Amino acid sequence: LVSREMKKEDTKIVVGDLVIGGKIPVMIAGPCAVESREQMKAVASELNRLGVSFLRGGAFKPRTSPYSFQGLGREGLRLMREVADEYGMKVVSEVMSAEQLELAEEYVDIFQIGARNMQNFELLKEVGNAKKPVLLKRGFMATLEELMLAAEYIYARGNTQIILCERGIRTFEHWTRNTLDLSAVPILKLKTHLPVIVDVSHSTGRKDIILPISKAALAAGADGLMVEVHNNPAIARSDAHQQLNLEEFASLMEGLGLIKKNK
Ligand code: PEP
Ligand code: MN
Repeated sequence: LVSREMKKEDTKIVVGDLVIGGKIPVMIAGPCAVESREQMKAVASELNRLGVSFLRGGAFKPRTSPYSFQGLGREGLRLMREVADEYGMKVVSEVMSAEQLELAEEYVDIFQIGARNMQNFELLKEVGNAKKPVLLKRGFMATLEELMLAAEYIYARGNTQIILCERGIRTFEHWTRNTLDLSAVPILKLKTHLPVIVDVSHSTGRKDIILPISKAALAAGADGLMVEVHNNPAIARSDAHQQLNLEEFASLMEGLGLIKKNK
């Protein structure tokens, strides 16, 4: 169902008055994790000023260590919704279980399925029944065919609003956090009718190459980018080293020629 053979024209994801998979690439930005109202306000107000409409932030964090910050849960979702509404932004946030999905339904506009859950088939079926778009991230050990089949689980249940996300895969290279598989973009665009975005933060794990990598992703045909942005990355409770500060993000937007100033 998700293959190009089944549907020739591109699928467009409509979120309110916004479109993902249309002519204009979208930017999904925000902190790794929702930490406080002050943090979300500082980030959202700058994103809004730069014309970014999608606010990301994890309230449920899939952390490698059980002792790491696990996210604020419902309080984080509530807080992010409130701040997003202040600026007329859309909320993108990860869910890791059916219970979290039910909880998040009230607060988010797009459900994110993280790399670690790309093959959590029961969760895929659950979001397949949901009435909101799903941003499905590629597992770091998953082939493109496996990513497409994961999307198929969602689509087959009736939820056709799926965005695929390349976020890097595991290789022997350790100068980047993951290896961005840029060929995934044109291949997925050929093989499927779904929009494809690139997470330039988790794929590289570093800030110093984010501009050329972002340019490359868009040049390869990506329908949008995901970038982690924090008002004070040094004190971030997760992924501190890879999150851009507000100035760095503004200069990325400028470098990409994507700024459409709101205020
Ligand atoms: C995230 O985007 O917050 C995240 C945890 O990314 P990934 O699932 O790609 O590791
Ligand atoms: Mn992160």
